[in-house]
Amino acid sequence: MIEEKVKKVLKKIRVNKKEKILIALSGGKDSAVVAQIMKKLGYNIQGIHISLGLGKYSEKCLEVVEKLCGNLEIKCYIYDLKKETGNSMINYFRKNACKNISTCTICGIFKKWILNKKARELKANKIATGHHRDDELQTFLMNIFKGSPQLNSNFGPILENKDKKLIVKIKPLFFISEKEIENYVKKNKIPFVKEICPYRQETYRVEIRKIFEKFSDKEKENMMKNFLELFKKIKKDIQKINYCEICGEPSRNRICKKCSLISSKK
Ligand code: SF4
Ligand code: ZN
Repeated sequence: MIEEKVKKVLKKIRVNKKEKILIALSGGKDSAVVAQIMKKLGYNIQGIHISLGLGKYSEKCLEVVEKLCGNLEIKCYIYDLKKETGNSMINYFRKNACKNISTCTICGIFKKWILNKKARELKANKIATGHHRDDELQTFLMNIFKGSPQLNSNFGPILENKDKKLIVKIKPLFFISEKEIENYVKKNKIPFVKEICPYRQETYRVEIRKIFEKFSDKEKENMMKNFLELFKKIKKDIQKINYCEICGEPSRNRICKKCSLISSKK
């Protein structure tokens, strides 16, 4: 069932089996499921993993990603965050601790920056991530509650190229619930990291998740459709992409988010 749904989405967003697709593997179950299904469906996939340097947790993630790629017989590119950005994630957390910004947001900004840059250097056609339906519904609502609907410009199973330096991102699990993923992982004995990241800071998301728990699957599917309609209207107001004056990577502002985090005074 889940394989059929993914197949349908990939067909709908016209992913070609000859294209080079990099799967952003975190060590978690969601991205592992994307790799497993896309491989099974015959797509040309490779893995990419960013080693975050978060102690034992990151070591475990790397171990699991290597195991998964070995099982699937796919190539995996590993990058070290400190080598790529000049400092460790823990130092970035410390440097930005006084700002009202969570560790997961900081972490996400760096991961996104490295992923896009490396995918471009590796001449990948697309990056696939493990975002699923429940993640997406929560993020959509969080952005609205924060008064930033324009941040929902990533909403949908494909994020089209808005700039030549940006690699197209796809979310093959966009219509799949977390429950379906959990069942699939169990059934197929897919390796993933069960431990929770010790730096996780997602209190706001946890509260939003509770709101969605009250709704049935059918209601959530309808919400997805409604949000997609709403997104078409928001899309018209999305800002133009510039290049960061420091690193040259695509950015909505003069300086990209990653460079602003690096230049923060302690
Ligand atoms: Fe980064 Fe948060 Fe994920 Fe930990 S839980 S790896 S801090 S995004
Ligand atoms: Zn920058």
